[in-house]
Formats: sequence, structure tokens, C-alpha cells
Amino acid sequence: MKLIATFTVIFKNIKSTMQVMGNYFECNTCGRPFKEGQGIILTVAGIKLFFHSKACAFKFFKEIMENADSEYLGKDVKEVYDKYQKIIELKKKKAEKKI
Ligand SMILES: [Zn+2]
Repeated sequence: MKLIATFTVIFKNIKSTMQVMGNYFECNTCGRPFKEGQGIILTVAGIKLFFHSKACAFKFFKEIMENADSEYLGKDVKEVYDKYQKIIELKKKKAEKKI
């Protein structure tokens, strides 16, 4: 039984390697294959991640955020939050000038 399991793993690895070689990637969230240029490919902390859709990418990253240590993540969230707040403020100011 163990041998069969090993062969199954090997076969799966060959299959996924073939998919990458043929410019097909497998979504890390749902397993759906997608062609190069169609999905989202990101390298985070040296790990290459493949997502067939924005929804799958969001699901994956949402889970990371929810499980992350808030003490460390809090600083990064605040930084990005502040960045977009500034952009929104600038947009509002520009809109006011036009009126
Ligand atoms: Zn997916």
C-alpha cells in the first residue's frame, strides 16, 4: 500500500512538472489548471504562488492575514492603509479644485 502511495505522489509530481513545462500552472487554492498569462503568479517570501483567479488569490491571502501575528502584521497594514488614505485625500482635493 505504501508503494502505491509513493507512486501516486511521484505521478502527481510528474504531472505538475509537465503542466509547468507546457506553460500550464496549477492553482494553489483550488487546483484548477490555467495557462500562462491568465492567472496570477506571485513570489512572496521566496515562494512562488499560482492562482487561477483573483478570488482564489484573495482566499489564500485572507487566510494568511487572519492567521498572522497581529503585532507584526499590524505595522504593514497601517503602512499600506496610510498610503491609500493619502492617495484618496489627494483625489478629493483635486476634485474640490475642479468645482
Ligand atoms: Zn483557483
